[in-house]
Amino acid sequence: MHSAASTDFINDVYPQLSDEERIRVDLAAAYNLIEHFGMSDSIYTHISARLPGVHDRFLINPYGTRFSEVTASNLVAIDLDGNILDDPFGMGANPAGFTIHSAVHAARPDAQCALHTHTVAGVAVSSTKEGILPINQWSMQFYQAVSRHPYEGIALNLAERERLVKDLGPDNKVLILDNHGMMTLGDNVGEAFTLMFNLERTCQTQLAILSSGLTIQNVEPEICKRTSDQYKEFAELSQRNGFHAEWLAYLRLLETVAPHYRA
Ligand SMILES: [Zn+2]
Repeated sequence: MHSAASTDFINDVYPQLSDEERIRVDLAAAYNLIEHFGMSDSIYTHISARLPGVHDRFLINPYGTRFSEVTASNLVAIDLDGNILDDPFGMGANPAGFTIHSAVHAARPDAQCALHTHTVAGVAVSSTKEGILPINQWSMQFYQAVSRHPYEGIALNLAERERLVKDLGPDNKVLILDNHGMMTLGDNVGEAFTLMFNLERTCQTQLAILSSGLTIQNVEPEICKRTSDQYKEFAELSQRNGFHAEWLAYLRLLETVAPHYRA
């Protein structure tokens, strides 16, 4: 059972937050959850969320913070060019780290959140020509729904941003950055996080299957497609009072292990 305090916040306070307060809480939660599940890379990679009611202002972690240090109140607001608009603790932001995010946010107004990771499993799968193989149930969620962008080195010039946006396309919510890592997009922070959580497990499982040396039991394309459709139906059925049940479950986890996230 959860403590009364955590139950009160998720059940009573969270639904009453303003749009900006909820985005701040959700984004700080995503940083802390990525840390909790071992998907962070020191101070590198970012999770960004668009502020409500605008197309060109975003929240991102303060420069140099570990993901476990991010809270709802220390997030930094920046624009598409990386200019700092609001920095409550004077910690700055990393405009270079935001380059990929700004290109994605500018091109995809449907995405409130963009979440980028460098995990061993994600980088490993991103470094293969085959990418994500539809060979287990988790991976079916991503069947025919993944974009790829070839590696061009660390620096992202304007021309590469245009190629990245073209490679991402208008619909997919998963982008493999070849030889580099993974990115997920979400209509909200919870969707971007849950996609990344399942993507990470998919990559880990794929590596385990391939390293077993055994014969892969392939799945017929029509079954892959049907399972992919089922994942979409489950997502719609999993709403609780307007919020996704899986995201609320992750927030309750943080209430136990890292309640400072919403400070
Ligand atoms: Zn990166």
